[in-house]
Amino acid sequence: MLLDNISDFLNDCGYDLEQEIIRISGVINVNAFSTVKSEFQGRDCVRIVQCIYPWASLLAHSCVPNACWSIDNTKELRISIRAATTIKKGEIITIAYNLPETMSGTLHRLISTEDVAHFLCRCKRCSDKTELGTFASAIKCFDCENGYLLPESPTTPDSEWECCGCDSLQAVPKIVLFLNNIEETYENITRRQYSRDIEVKKLELLLRQTGDLLHENHYILQEFRMRIINLQIHSLDHVNETDLERFINHCKFMLKIADVLMPGFSKTRALLQFFLSQGLLRKVSRKTQDPEENEKEIADLYKEIHYLQTRALLYFNNQHSFSLRSEAESNQFAVCIKRQLKNLESYIN
Ligand SMILES: [Zn+2]
Ligand SMILES: [Zn+2]
Repeated sequence: MLLDNISDFLNDCGYDLEQEIIRISGVINVNAFSTVKSEFQGRDCVRIVQCIYPWASLLAHSCVPNACWSIDNTKELRISIRAATTIKKGEIITIAYNLPETMSGTLHRLISTEDVAHFLCRCKRCSDKTELGTFASAIKCFDCENGYLLPESPTTPDSEWECCGCDSLQAVPKIVLFLNNIEETYENITRRQYSRDIEVKKLELLLRQTGDLLHENHYILQEFRMRIINLQIHSLDHVNETDLERFINHCKFMLKIADVLMPGFSKTRALLQFFLSQGLLRKVSRKTQDPEENEKEIADLYKEIHYLQTRALLYFNNQHSFSLRSEAESNQFAVCIKRQLKNLESYIN
């Protein structure tokens, strides 16, 4: 549309206008930081803004970033860059250009980064077909029983996928079609507006069925688990013991993967630490009502909850208010954790 609007004026410039506009869009996309800015001008007003910062725009991208960024809600839109992990002297400081994509698999991220920022990522996660040993994109082989299909050359989007257990080779379109069919089944469930309980039951069934087709750490299964966690967090007081245990296991499972792929100070880890602590709080409260329960096990649970909540609080307390909604969300988590920590201290000491 931009091209249509200005081509009449610039047709005689003597260079390839379309290519130039694509190049400029790429430069802006790769260097700009998008944020949601909330304002109150008689009514709530939300705008998406793209900001360019001379220094922060120099930061390199990685799909396993060692730093994170946030933009505050002041008029100046100040940016803060914070170390997410320990950064050694001389190590390149990296951030994720497209944060939501860090949950997905390499092929998905490659296509998305190329689309938005016009470059093919070659970070340590993208260059490793096992995605740092997580097997987050691995598919069970179509031809043998125990092998997994992985891309031969992970940073080449049209590379064939080979099995690590037999000599099976699969072309990318077949892999994409296979994954799209699973995603479509998932979307058919989430779009139907079932009640929370019914949707959780359907997703658990899909998780079991799809677990036979993909590696247990596959990013699509992580997406199912995250959806189940987000649905069940609202009804933890009413779920039965089996469902509570399953909720706790989903959180622990997701945290283990996030520890590798989104290490350190990240929103995903902070949320999972908070969600897991909520599941464990319900578990310990049920255990304390049973006189037969082991006191040591109960004390250990309190310690685990305390650890998770202090870690999550560290993240939420330090989040800049890049939008009013986000600030309110972070505050809400922080207030809830502080209240629960106060109660916990009497059990721990
Ligand atoms: Zn990458
Ligand atoms: Zn095989």
